[in-house]
Amino acid sequence: MIEAIVNSQKDFFKTGKTKTIAYRKQLLKQLQSEIINQEDLIVKALYDDFKKPEFESVITETAIVLQDLKRTINNINKWAKPKRVFPSLLNFPSSDYLYSEPYGTVLIIAPWNYPYQLALAPLIGAVAAGNTVVLKPSELTPNTSALLTKIIKNVFPPEFVTVVEGGVDTSTKLLNQVWDYIFFTGSVGVGKIVAKAAAPNLTPITLELGGKNPCIIDKTANIELTVKRIVWGKFINAGQTCIAPDYILIDASIKNKFYEVLKDELITIYTKNPEKSSDFARIINKKNFNRLSEMLTNENCMIGGKTNAEDLYISPTIIDEPSLNSKVMEDEIFGPILPVISFKNLNEVHKIINRYPKPLSLYVFSTNTTQAKKLIKEFSFGGGCINDTVVHFANHKLPFGGVGNSGIGAYHGKYTFDTFSHKKAIVKKANWLDIPLRYAPYSGKLKKL
Ligand code: NAD
Repeated sequence: MIEAIVNSQKDFFKTGKTKTIAYRKQLLKQLQSEIINQEDLIVKALYDDFKKPEFESVITETAIVLQDLKRTINNINKWAKPKRVFPSLLNFPSSDYLYSEPYGTVLIIAPWNYPYQLALAPLIGAVAAGNTVVLKPSELTPNTSALLTKIIKNVFPPEFVTVVEGGVDTSTKLLNQVWDYIFFTGSVGVGKIVAKAAAPNLTPITLELGGKNPCIIDKTANIELTVKRIVWGKFINAGQTCIAPDYILIDASIKNKFYEVLKDELITIYTKNPEKSSDFARIINKKNFNRLSEMLTNENCMIGGKTNAEDLYISPTIIDEPSLNSKVMEDEIFGPILPVISFKNLNEVHKIINRYPKPLSLYVFSTNTTQAKKLIKEFSFGGGCINDTVVHFANHKLPFGGVGNSGIGAYHGKYTFDTFSHKKAIVKKANWLDIPLRYAPYSGKLKKL
């Protein structure tokens, strides 16, 4: 069945229909109407999957996709047009162009944590660039994945775009096909499986992966704002965000003040019992619940540390000074647990951050701009913020992606269109002049250069 889908898409691509911009635009507009009609159902599906609060579903999933669609529809003609570039004098007389060419048939594999947005954002760019698409959403969010199937079926013929639902087996079968491009969002481990599957055919890939994102707070930081912005970025989606701050490195002299403000802030936003708050999501499944609960064992939970296995609930939790060899500092946390480690000088900060592979994000809270910029330059990471968390994701002019272990390639806004386009470089030579210097016989010509 999978082979048949891929073959039908390859045949359809060969007809050249997806090379027509008007056709791509027409279907993107249909997708726009369809998802506007389905918005309530999307929010409901996300709630049913892991009690994602409505506000978070709108601002981190549906609104982002709609903005992206609108921007893509408005700009597709401009983006897809061949771009004239300045010609080289060496080729005089010529006019030089960059053509954006679709790769062909593309596989997109999506994760569960933002299951709607992380599936549709790359899909919109792939379609805009003229590719056919097979989308494999996550098996861990069955309600959202089923709705994605329905939405795509209502809009696209399957030989253009189709959703294939399923878990590891399905994903493996899909990876065994020959693709023209693979776009994967998920864990580092599975990213390596994808890279291996792509290698024999030299299939180009984008890998949007994860990592352990440090958040540095120096003694000059504005504590009230720092706390608000960290709490939001960490506990949105119950900490299941690839760019959430993973651990805090704080100047020892301000740690106590930081905890005081943090305690108040958590009560203000989630009340004294976050389990009852409708603004706090749940852990996606039992496996992740168990993995996260184990991180709490023998740790000093300054705040929170409460769990309820039946409801897959873990309270917003702050761990004070865990050992660097503890479970919580071993790997990406990806849940509502925030370890805090104090430092006396920046050498310690360097030592800790450099223990781990290059992270997806890094955050610095400081009112000393020179110091903050210095730190940003000293470490290698995908992207990040000074005096905020997560919000670099929201600017479509900034490419979003990792480096090293946290990923290969980037997307968002026009970068998504470019990710799914091969840039074909063309020199159009004029015939009215031909400088014969380059032709043999070469004898004596080097002296003329
Ligand atoms: P995951 O790697 O377990 O799964 C992602 C996708 O791969 C799913 O569709 C899944 O079905 C498939 N998959 C799982 N195991 C597979 C295998 N063995 N072979 C082939 N396919 C397989 O990731 P997840 O748990 O869904 O998401 C969490 C991870 O994703 C975290 O590490 C997080 O940091 C990362 N993430 C990164 C970004 C980003 O934009 N960089 C965004 C969200 C999540």
